[in-house]
Amino acid sequence: MTTDDTFEGACTCRAVRYRMESRPMFVHCCHCRWCQRETGTAFALNALIESERVSLIAGEPERVDTPSNSGKGQVIWRCPTCRIALWSNYGGRGDFIRFVRVGTLVDPDRLPPDVHIFTSTKQPWVVLPAGARSFSEYYDSKQEWPADSLERRAAVFARLAT
Ligand SMILES: [Zn+2]
Ligand SMILES: [Zn+2]
Repeated sequence: MTTDDTFEGACTCRAVRYRMESRPMFVHCCHCRWCQRETGTAFALNALIESERVSLIAGEPERVDTPSNSGKGQVIWRCPTCRIALWSNYGGRGDFIRFVRVGTLVDPDRLPPDVHIFTSTKQPWVVLPAGARSFSEYYDSKQEWPADSLERRAAVFARLAT
């Protein structure tokens, strides 16, 4: 069941289907060269959410270890059949926060970006909406995230530390 605060998604062959059980903490539109290469297009659109809030409805994505800009690696989770990427974990800390690829949602229009990042390498034809929050490289999440999202993330890190 989809409600105003849940979001269903799937790979292209629909072997893997999932549901985000709440709104994400934050949505990144990343214009870095790594995201451009990994998506084959101009940017990546990622919804950041606690892993425990993502339920599998069908299938099981497969882990693919991938280099990352930070050097800490990225784990991309892909459909084992059609190989579409559904989400990633960054930072080498395990599967605690998922960067869900918004384009795999049934209705991706529901999650526009909260910030545009790495706009120093934005492809020049991509014109951001007036008033969009944008950063030439990374950004200070404590400044940009809503308080309840910062609390959610702090709860994840507190669990990690124990
Ligand atoms: Zn698939
Ligand atoms: Zn990026």
